Amino acid sequence: MSGEILVTERQALGLDEEHLVSVQGSCKIHPLVSAPLQSLAQQCSAPGCRLAIASGYRSFDRQLAIFNAKARGEREVLDDRGQVLDMQRLSPREQLYAILRFSALPGASRHHWGSDMDVYDPAAMPADYRVQLTLSECVPGGVFGDLHCELDSHLQGSDFYRPYERDLGAIAPEPWHLSYRPLADAYVKVLSRDLLGDCLQSAELELKPVVMRHLDDIYRRYVQLEPGSGSN
Ligand SMILES: [Zn+2]
Repeated sequence: MSGEILVTERQALGLDEEHLVSVQGSCKIHPLVSAPLQSLAQQCSAPGCRLAIASGYRSFDRQLAIFNAKARGEREVLDDRGQVLDMQRLSPREQLYAILRFSALPGASRHHWGSDMDVYDPAAMPADYRVQLTLSECVPGGVFGDLHCELDSHLQGSDFYRPYERDLGAIAPEPWHLSYRPLADAYVKVLSRDLLGDCLQSAELELKPVVMRHLDDIYRRYVQLEPGSGSN
């Protein structure tokens, strides 16, 4: 892709969705992603294989509701072994980083941009199967194993990639999360630490004092995706 892509601060924070288009029913993505995604889907065409979107755009308010529900104990927070954490026993800082392992801070989710999506393979699912988006679904032999094998070969040479492929110590690995790089890079540039901080400061956010105290670390490792254990 050539030329500058026009992105705004409000789009980067998930506060504006007017520019998005609907695909596959209720999923919304950025219009610049439509054609490249279609061509990637055509490439992933092994018998019985179909690339579909489980989750595309998510608004700031939706992400805020998820984050706050986890912080309030209204929604489960899991550890790396899939066990439910007893949040009451954790310090506010531990609570924050436990949530961030699997859920983005509102304003800092790549799902705000329309450039990123969680994918699955409806053609491979048994009847009544409920998509979970877990690692075991994506490995060879898993229900979406064939799709991920296709993606392994076709992502190379495409503008899509898996930003959470490896565990860098912050966000847990999510092979099902694809990002359209030309657009995502433009949004990362617009989403500065101060823009995010100002937005969160005025939001009804749980754990706000500890979020603001650790915002530099969160921004570096969870937005810019730099490796390191940080202050966690
Ligand atoms: Zn995702």
